[in-house]
Amino acid sequence: MDDKPRLAVSACLLGEKVRHNGGTAEFRALTNEWKGHFDMVSICPEVGIGMGTPRPTTRLVNDGESIRLVNPKNGDDFTSQMLEYAQLQADALVESGICGFVFKKDSPSCGLERVKVYREGHVQAVRSGMGMFAKVFTTLYPHIPVIEEGRLTDPRQAEHFFVRVHFFSLWHHEGKKGWTDKAIKEFHNVNKLFLLSRSPDAKRKLGRLITQGFDNGEHPETVALAYMTEAQQSLNVLTKTEPIAHAMERVLGPTDTIATPFAPLPH
Ligand code: SF4
Repeated sequence: MDDKPRLAVSACLLGEKVRHNGGTAEFRALTNEWKGHFDMVSICPEVGIGMGTPRPTTRLVNDGESIRLVNPKNGDDFTSQMLEYAQLQADALVESGICGFVFKKDSPSCGLERVKVYREGHVQAVRSGMGMFAKVFTTLYPHIPVIEEGRLTDPRQAEHFFVRVHFFSLWHHEGKKGWTDKAIKEFHNVNKLFLLSRSPDAKRKLGRLITQGFDNGEHPETVALAYMTEAQQSLNVLTKTEPIAHAMERVLGPTDTIATPFAPLPH
């Protein structure tokens, strides 16, 4: 497999001047050292719905029934446009073969966690929300690895995320041939030591998921999708090294090594 994995990235992180004030939020690790390892695709949801640059700031507002994306100065509501755009764009990105997504933190459109949500008529916010575009994307496609750039400043989290992206890209590559029961079993077998090295419970859980899927007569494509969704959920947690070492000792002999199928990762 020669192709670089395709990675979707919030456009401002790639140095594009698309922020509300006409500026960027360039994340240099992405634009410099990691650029050569991925085929990066930029996307700015707010420009995508026609808000233009520069533009008024938006915020998430809880009106008691739902979360809205609004301009706090004049009440303009962009919720419907953003929801419609997010669904179409998420489908298009996945169709294009993306293997991961790096989102801009804190944004009411792109943030993945702890985004400010205001209660209608209040000036104080709680950090409990997700950007509207990010929420739609992760709801529709929970099997695709995602992260905010803030977490990529930690080398351990960065390495772990890029490994998840490579794991996904292997699955995506295999899936192009069409999933069969045999192909799913082989994929799991080839990657089981990797799974064990990253998430001690994942190998067992995924083995059970495959068996149950086959027993229930599910289509291999359905089983393969459930497999990657469960795998990425398990891998989403960075496990401490002690339990991993313990689990590895139980299955590896003294001369065994972990044969990782991955290309060298960026540092
Ligand atoms: S955070 Fe998202 S919506 Fe805001 S400028 Fe960056 S890409 Fe555009």
